[in-house]
Amino acid sequence: MAFSGALTLTDLNDFISPSQACIKPVEQADKKPEEKYVGAKTEIVVDSSGSYYEVASEGAVQLNNTSAQIDNEGSTGTKLEQAQISLNDCLACSGCITSAESILITLQSHAEVFTFLDSNKDATEDTKKLPVLSIAPQPLASLAASLTASACSSSSSSAAPPITPHQVLRRVQAFCREALGIAHVFDTTFARHLALREHLLEFEERKAKDKLGGEAAQGQLPMLASACPGWICYAEKAHSEMLPFISRTKSPQQVMGTLVKEWMGKHAGFTPDKVYHVSVMPCYDKKLEASRQDFYNDVYSTRDVDCVITTGELELMMREKGWDLAQPVPGELDEEAEAVNAESTALPELIQHAGSSSGSYLMSIIEHLQRESAVPLTLSSKIMRNADYEEFTLTVAGSGKTVFKGAKCYGFRNLQNVVRKVGRERGVRTAGGAAGRLAGRAGAGVGRRLKKAGGGGDEDGGKDKQYDYVEVMACPGGCVNGGGQLKPILPKPQESGADEEGYPRDWVQTGVVLPENETEMGATTAPRADVDPPSVAAIESGVVMNAKWGDKDWTRRVEAAYWLDGSLEPMGQAGVQCDEEGSGGAEIKMNGGPHDLDAPPPLGPSAARGRAMGGGREGPTVSGRAGGRVNVKSDATSAERRRSAQRIRKKRWAEKLADRVLKELCGSDDDAVKNRQRFFRTEYHAVESDVGGLAVKW
Ligand code: SF4
Repeated sequence: MAFSGALTLTDLNDFISPSQACIKPVEQADKKPEEKYVGAKTEIVVDSSGSYYEVASEGAVQLNNTSAQIDNEGSTGTKLEQAQISLNDCLACSGCITSAESILITLQSHAEVFTFLDSNKDATEDTKKLPVLSIAPQPLASLAASLTASACSSSSSSAAPPITPHQVLRRVQAFCREALGIAHVFDTTFARHLALREHLLEFEERKAKDKLGGEAAQGQLPMLASACPGWICYAEKAHSEMLPFISRTKSPQQVMGTLVKEWMGKHAGFTPDKVYHVSVMPCYDKKLEASRQDFYNDVYSTRDVDCVITTGELELMMREKGWDLAQPVPGELDEEAEAVNAESTALPELIQHAGSSSGSYLMSIIEHLQRESAVPLTLSSKIMRNADYEEFTLTVAGSGKTVFKGAKCYGFRNLQNVVRKVGRERGVRTAGGAAGRLAGRAGAGVGRRLKKAGGGGDEDGGKDKQYDYVEVMACPGGCVNGGGQLKPILPKPQESGADEEGYPRDWVQTGVVLPENETEMGATTAPRADVDPPSVAAIESGVVMNAKWGDKDWTRRVEAAYWLDGSLEPMGQAGVQCDEEGSGGAEIKMNGGPHDLDAPPPLGPSAARGRAMGGGREGPTVSGRAGGRVNVKSDATSAERRRSAQRIRKKRWAEKLADRVLKELCGSDDDAVKNRQRFFRTEYHAVESDVGGLAVKW
């Protein structure tokens, strides 16, 4: 079975480092009477056939040893049963790949896209499909950061204009059109806009039920974000007691699937099965998400998203086709044209939603509450364990009454803490694996164990206020740091064979780089990214081989690229300074407040800590932070004002189009609510697995 060349075990390391053991929780269905040991210590030994035995170590006497056997070394021991791990047990921790997952991933690879495109060329009118590609903003940011870093490392000057996501989108569109024959390429931010609207609606529904108290309030709040399939997969398999709290709103990828197949396809005269939808995402988990049964259209026997590829796979496709993404394409700096008539299905591009680079879910709720509030609200934030776990509180200015408490929680370890906290607050029994599953098995019983339903408003300054919402993401740093993103870039030597100062150097001889395919130990196997120095080819391609996934500095650079506004000006003005490492760290200027989308401040320590936002519709200017360094200017230049005006126009366009999409898809009759559920919401499944636990049915 052939994997995509872009896929390696380290690529899959989304949120648990490879050094950690598989944490699949084990539930022992028919527990044996406890064996007692005197002297306490036992050891596990492996015999020549690979069987495992538990043996008493020296001085220990094992009692109750009913199944003792003699191993090949003559020790007495108990043969241990081999653990069976199937796809159903997998927590998508990326510590291993099961064969079933490998089939799924093989079916969703860049090779599969090439195969489809080849076969589609020769297809008859009846079987021909319309290829469509959608790309998330995080892959665009990853590509932009990578191109900027490469440009900086090869630039002789100290500054180079940053490549923006807008430019990258145009270049990807050109690549798809000219090299692949895909004419329809969109970014997914309009789908995210729809998802955020639905998400707000769901939050209001849950809040209303929570207010009722009693049975109706059970499992409603805190609402937990649902856009991250890594988190969903983990919750379904290890913490099913959390499922009632998870938002039912589809992720932007799946909303894009609905948009492409059900709405745009219809306008273009294609049924869903006649559209082939490729999605470019920052992680491998999105492949598993697209494969869920819930997103399969039984009527047309097709999926909302036919194939998911990662940023790395898209880059691989370009390399295989000999396409240089560093080359500008005509018109890439032009302003985006707006839809000229009401019938147009053109989508607004790269809509920036203020908040986080992982979807801005929490900030969209905060903004919504501020907009709807009759009194001014103050937003404050507090970093908990680290920057990836931060609490946000909205209080009534003056009285200090807390009206909302939310958190951003990224990374697997933070996520486990939040699960425990929510369980404690809501009286749900949580424990990793079996205990959690047992709690969840009761299904409706989740609610029965609730200590106290309803978060209510507090007048204690928010100290004991329960969470109303948590933006949960499995990757540390969020989606900009997804496992499918590009690796950090190492500055190239100035010219082959010369060092930084221009002196001739033999890089192989000096041990700086390795001959191609040779590891540190001299073996001719693939280099190990974590220990081996980069190869000549790697250096020449500008890709660091010893760079670790999750490098914080690199994540900040991708984050900075994410927030670059590339819609109007070449970014030379803002000026990305090439730093010592040769990678571009953006210095970005942003103005505005949360209400007009004029500034997209990511949730972060400096973004909200200690700042106060006015309530109602009169939010004062807010300092924002994009990645590493942001300067906020109060005296906006005309270019900035133009960009700001364009963002507002785009937002209005998006709102208007969203209304139209909803009306056309869902109708306005009695079936509207049912249709809305069908097109924009989903379900989660915790089911019995054959090993006695609960697991996901893909
Ligand atoms: Fe994928 Fe984002 Fe979740 Fe990471 S945080 S697994 S990139 S959806």
